[in-house]
Amino acid sequence: MRILRGAEVSARIKEQVREELEKLQVKRPGFVPKLAIVRLGENPDDVSYERGAIKKMENFGLQAQSYSFPQDISNEEFKARFREINENPDVTGILLLKPLPKQIQEKEIDRMILPEKDLDGISPVNMAKIFMGDGTGFAPCTAEAVVEVLKANEIPIAGKKITIVGRSLIVGKPLSMLMMKENGTVTVCHTKTLDLAGTCRQAEILVAAAGKAKMLKEEHVGQDAVVIDVGIHVNDEGKLCGDVDFDSIKDKASAATPVPGGVGTVTTAVLAKHLVQAGMLMTGKG
Ligand code: NAD
Repeated sequence: MRILRGAEVSARIKEQVREELEKLQVKRPGFVPKLAIVRLGENPDDVSYERGAIKKMENFGLQAQSYSFPQDISNEEFKARFREINENPDVTGILLLKPLPKQIQEKEIDRMILPEKDLDGISPVNMAKIFMGDGTGFAPCTAEAVVEVLKANEIPIAGKKITIVGRSLIVGKPLSMLMMKENGTVTVCHTKTLDLAGTCRQAEILVAAAGKAKMLKEEHVGQDAVVIDVGIHVNDEGKLCGDVDFDSIKDKASAATPVPGGVGTVTTAVLAKHLVQAGMLMTGKG
């Protein structure tokens, strides 16, 4: 089985980012796009993701800054702070770490974020663009990362039977649209799907985004299928694993992404790509 490593895909995106940044700096010398990572509370997973994302932006020649707020901040107070970040001309793009605490009206924030700064595709404008196949918006980084992994590894999508397990707004749904745009024939599975294993086995490309550790096993994978694992979990031994039981599928799949070292690595690279694109949008306007 071929292992589809995220590092190689990320290196390819890094090269694209470097080229785009050069073009941007011809138009606007000295300009380095800046990412604002907005975090509420001190969830260790968020803090660790934020640290990784800041390192990645700097490694790609970009800037990132954390804007953290107390977990119990009121909805009104957070909206006021978020508005300041949104309107700050020094902020090129925004990543809001979710889920948000219960008192925050998440939909209000999703509607408030400026679409041209919305690097993770949470605003209704960007969602509509993905739905319409309009490439001028930002797709959620993880969904786009799945397509990047396939393209970088020259795995064709057009005409292929693709099954996505998961229908969330941040992964499954937008990914189904991106795959259709690439002319894939898409099936989306969820908690009410009957015969999950049978449906998954039909797929030539199987994407796991269910958020259940090691849920997909050999019985879910068709012979020689390509398996892309979006899941990230910490197991009982404190190690990372995905939604796919990697050991159980390795003699059946033709290729698969590992966890760690697969889609997650590419997700932050896509975030960097979106940040430079946001810099271009901002420069075009100015
Ligand atoms: P979510 O919980 O919002 O959605 C999970 C989806 O899977 C739901 O639509 C649900 O219907 C479906 N599902 C759950 N259990 C199922 C089952 N037994 N059978 C069939 N369908 C089932 O999760 P999410 O935010 O979409 O994230 C999915 C996974 O991806 C999580 O493990 C998350 O940690 C990971 N993730 C990774 C990245 C990355 O950068 N790699 C980014 C975001 C999320």
